[in-house]
Amino acid sequence: MCELCEESGVISVEEYEAVSGDVCEYVPDDFEPDSVDEPLYQCPNPPEYCVVDSLVEEHLCGLHAKDDPEDEADALLEAVGLGSAQILQIKPQSSEKCEHIDLINGTPECGESATHARVLEIESFLCAQHLKEYLASARDQRQ
Ligand SMILES: [Zn+2]
Ligand SMILES: [Zn+2]
Ligand SMILES: [Zn+2]
Repeated sequence: MCELCEESGVISVEEYEAVSGDVCEYVPDDFEPDSVDEPLYQCPNPPEYCVVDSLVEEHLCGLHAKDDPEDEADALLEAVGLGSAQILQIKPQSSEKCEHIDLINGTPECGESATHARVLEIESFLCAQHLKEYLASARDQRQ
């Protein structure tokens, strides 16, 4: 595990003033909608906090860190304002391997030693009660 994976988790919690129509974005870990019509967010409370979470999406070698075209998913994430992606350097002695896959040509995972990681920062807007649950489950996932 590289140092960025070890650090991944909640990086900031800020108070947030909801505007009308905002709902808490808490989604339980085991939530599976029974139908596509079911709303993704179930909590009717207005959000009171903005939580920013960091998540290592992919490890990359030097070559792929440079040449990795911006992922469509990341571009979408930024476009809708849910978060942002950035490529950061990791310690070269880490045991991580490059996970880059060329989807267009269908090549296997690169497998070179990783020197970089793509990190997503994801924003969630939560009510006070769900902030507690969110932080507790983020803590559990790190153990
Ligand atoms: Zn890592
Ligand atoms: Zn690579
Ligand atoms: Zn809530």
